[in-house]
Amino acid sequence: MGYPNDGSDGVPARPHFPDIELEVLDHWRAGDVFAKSVRPREQATGEFVFYDGPPFANGLPHYGHLLAGYAKDVVPRYQTMRGKRVERRFGWTTHGLPAELDAERQLGITTKSDIERMGIKEFNEVCRGTVMRYTEQWRAYVNRQARWVDLDNDVRTHDITYTESVLWAFKTLWDKGLIYQGHSIAWYCAHCETPLANNESNGRMYGGDTLRDVQGTAVVVTVRLDTGELLRVAAEHPWALPGMVAVAVHPEGEYELGSGRKVTGAELAGRRFEPLFPFAEGRANKVIVQSYVDVSGDAVPVTPCFEERDHAVAEAEGLGGAYLVDATGRYTEDAPPVAGRTVLESAAIVLDLLAESGALVSSRPFTDSRPHCWRCDSTLVQQAIPSWFLRVTRIRDRMLELNKQVTWRPEHIKDGKYGKWVGGARDWNISRSRYWGAPIPVWRSDDPACPRTDVYGSLDEIERDFGVRPDDLHRPYIDELTRPNPDDPTGKSTMRRVPDVLDCWFETGAVPYASVHYPFENAEWFEANSPGQFVVEHEAQTRGWFYSMNVLSTALFDRPAFTDCTVLGVVLGNDGQSMSRAKGNYLDVNDLFDRDGADAMRWFLMSSPLLRAIEVEVTEEGSRTALRQVVLPLWNTWSFLVLYAGEEDGRTRTDPSHQLDRYLLAKTRDLIEETGRALDEFDMSRACSLLHSHLDMVTNFYIRSSRQRFAAGDREAVDTLHTALEVLCRLLAPLLPMISEKVWRGLTGGLSVHLTDWPSPEELPADPELVRVVDRVRLVLSTALSQRKSHNLRLRQPLARLLVVAADAGEMAPYAELLRDQDNVKAVEFSADIAAYGRAQLVVNARQAGPRLGARVQQVIRAAAAGDWAKDESGTVLAAGIALEPGEYEERVVADGADAVTALPDGTGLLVLDTDVTKQLADEGFARDLVRVVRQARKAAGFDVGEPASLMVELDGEHLARMRAHRDLVLAETSVERLEFGPVPDGFAGRIGDGAAVRVGLTKVGSAT
Ligand SMILES: [Zn+2]
Repeated sequence: MGYPNDGSDGVPARPHFPDIELEVLDHWRAGDVFAKSVRPREQATGEFVFYDGPPFANGLPHYGHLLAGYAKDVVPRYQTMRGKRVERRFGWTTHGLPAELDAERQLGITTKSDIERMGIKEFNEVCRGTVMRYTEQWRAYVNRQARWVDLDNDVRTHDITYTESVLWAFKTLWDKGLIYQGHSIAWYCAHCETPLANNESNGRMYGGDTLRDVQGTAVVVTVRLDTGELLRVAAEHPWALPGMVAVAVHPEGEYELGSGRKVTGAELAGRRFEPLFPFAEGRANKVIVQSYVDVSGDAVPVTPCFEERDHAVAEAEGLGGAYLVDATGRYTEDAPPVAGRTVLESAAIVLDLLAESGALVSSRPFTDSRPHCWRCDSTLVQQAIPSWFLRVTRIRDRMLELNKQVTWRPEHIKDGKYGKWVGGARDWNISRSRYWGAPIPVWRSDDPACPRTDVYGSLDEIERDFGVRPDDLHRPYIDELTRPNPDDPTGKSTMRRVPDVLDCWFETGAVPYASVHYPFENAEWFEANSPGQFVVEHEAQTRGWFYSMNVLSTALFDRPAFTDCTVLGVVLGNDGQSMSRAKGNYLDVNDLFDRDGADAMRWFLMSSPLLRAIEVEVTEEGSRTALRQVVLPLWNTWSFLVLYAGEEDGRTRTDPSHQLDRYLLAKTRDLIEETGRALDEFDMSRACSLLHSHLDMVTNFYIRSSRQRFAAGDREAVDTLHTALEVLCRLLAPLLPMISEKVWRGLTGGLSVHLTDWPSPEELPADPELVRVVDRVRLVLSTALSQRKSHNLRLRQPLARLLVVAADAGEMAPYAELLRDQDNVKAVEFSADIAAYGRAQLVVNARQAGPRLGARVQQVIRAAAAGDWAKDESGTVLAAGIALEPGEYEERVVADGADAVTALPDGTGLLVLDTDVTKQLADEGFARDLVRVVRQARKAAGFDVGEPASLMVELDGEHLARMRAHRDLVLAETSVERLEFGPVPDGFAGRIGDGAAVRVGLTKVGSAT
């Protein structure tokens, strides 16, 4: 019968890979192959748990998701082949501001009061409706990239089971004393009416830096001290002055008071001053000393409501807060002239007030670099927010301790970006005064005179106290659960929920347990499978999702959330800038899929430095290179095997006698071990590079050197290539899932390569000695070929002799014929006499030798360069009379300068090529050129391999005469039975030698000429 065994008609030499991929996707769907690949627990050798960073559901997928999605597919496919059960449920972040903003856009509203006017119930219904609206786009994208993940049985953060686990986490942290209420200073967007998490306002999480210049006004005002003297105060943000509680001076600063008297800051410490505004009566209103104040400048205001540092200073000095801003980012009635205005809008009024009271000394325009809201682009202010906090400061040392158990890739993230972030972590503001999110499960008495606080961590507890079991934990339903305060004998006060919802990062940080509804279900399973074994996301998540998972895991379980973390670099557009729809600097993913296929894209991304957290430009060239370097060689190997196997399939064979066959199997065995090791370490780019060089060996060495045996119908060669290719398909399966599937099924007729086991090295024979020698031969051959290139000698031009000079040259003698054929020389000879063609050079490894030799290392290096070195009887190397230790130097063989002598790139030998092209050799070269033209003509005319043909050649007289002697060579190499010379007016045109025109005509044997 013969290949292929997957039911298709044949194996095209030049297939359209995207079509093959679609066919494979259909096959998977029809055969339910993904579901079959998830091993039942009882058949698995254990579980492999990885967490999928859930994307915001109300956004469309982009390149970043594509990249992470590939990595999230490669690892589970590999672990599945390793015998592990790898469950993969798609997760969505469905709560949070992106969903609320989406709903606002749809409703045409912009503020919280709009929402409260329309009703939280209606608003949340719209949020619920928006969050899953792109699932079909995601499904198409995920499916086309061949990512196996269960989208039908997905996890959504707004599921009630998920939220119940989140409430459990909150309650557990509350019971541990890790949650408190206070004021936080946060970057706040007055338009969105919400604070932004530090990781949101701080950089690139949502693309692009958010810092931009804005125009403001800097002022100098005076305050009147209790002595009646005036102290100058410089303020860059006059809009913050209504919140001033004190002024700070430098202890060694010199301050000129209005009277002309000069005093030091230290002398001013503790002095009171008259409030700047009437509503500031009753505050501390005093001078404090702080070393952060510019020693040569004026005093500065302390505004704890608007500045993190001032907030800390005010707490330390007991100055009181003056929190004048409400939850919508507007001044409250405690600052009457500006009440109801957003903080930034108040600047003009404040300036007027200061001018009226005579406090204003001067004002000038001032350019301020401020962060902007990534959602609405409004300028952000730091302001105090009544908030709930998780005491990260209490656990951050433990987090650093636990981080020692985690392997980060690249390694520098561990103590670098991540470790530094944790080391500097502050308490985490986990509350948001918003609507669409998990509720903060805290109920409080509405009468401060009768205080009581209840915190709930399960539906059971809520049902116990409120008599109903909620089927929806969202606002407003959860807010409707109230009960009389049990501690109030009058029975008048009521327990009401605090209105805040949780930061959606708290929810996604709970992925490991909330996705399995721990501890209400799967408690045993979770305890046995936590920490998870793998996470992979972009670098921004070191401060985002990775961080929030570890904060919660440390606080709840005293362990890290995961043991291995791969950090991805940023995918850039083809101009090296961030991808931007407006700039149009990237290709549509689907266009690339349609052109080169999704496997080529996968290979390009997985083999790139993106997996080492380095930025990479995505260009058209990327997937095209992957196609050329990997997909095509794999396919060509397969189609070569099909061609030469003929009617009979190859069989699994591990005992071939030919040394090249044994080499191929032994190399494949090494590849099993090395690729497995790389993927065990989640090092996908190393796995790619190992597989790439192996494929290069198969096509450019094994097949080329074995072509004649295949052509002669050598079944051992066919069996060997079948065996090696079958194993190679399994090794490629995670990284090239569709094309390897197609080839593997064609080879075996099996259902799917993804249902097979990862190959075991024991499947193939080891032969380290053979591998070592043939690897040397390959190095010689590739060096010889580039040597030809540098002498402008085409490979079809036979040459007289290649001499291999190396200490171990004799070992390569059995491969003389191979080298002769592949380098097209008449003779290959071997010699150990390096001194005849070159010399050994000593290269000193300064980094190794430096510490031991100190200053003498320079002397040694100079001596080595000058050739002033030798070996003594014991083999010890001496340079400038100084003995070197192994590792401190390298001996390299270098050519002696003669043109035709080339050193091997590893410095272990020389090649001497006879570059003299005699007339006789040139004649044969012409004949070989003709062979090539005839082969091209056969292909163009659609002749089968080996199919006999008659050949007519038209060529100028001189070349014709020189060619005649090699008539037999042409016949043998082109399956031509009859060769004649004469005019071929419409023949196939080509060139030989230095460009002489030739035309050839082919006819089938037996047909009329
Ligand atoms: Zn905003």
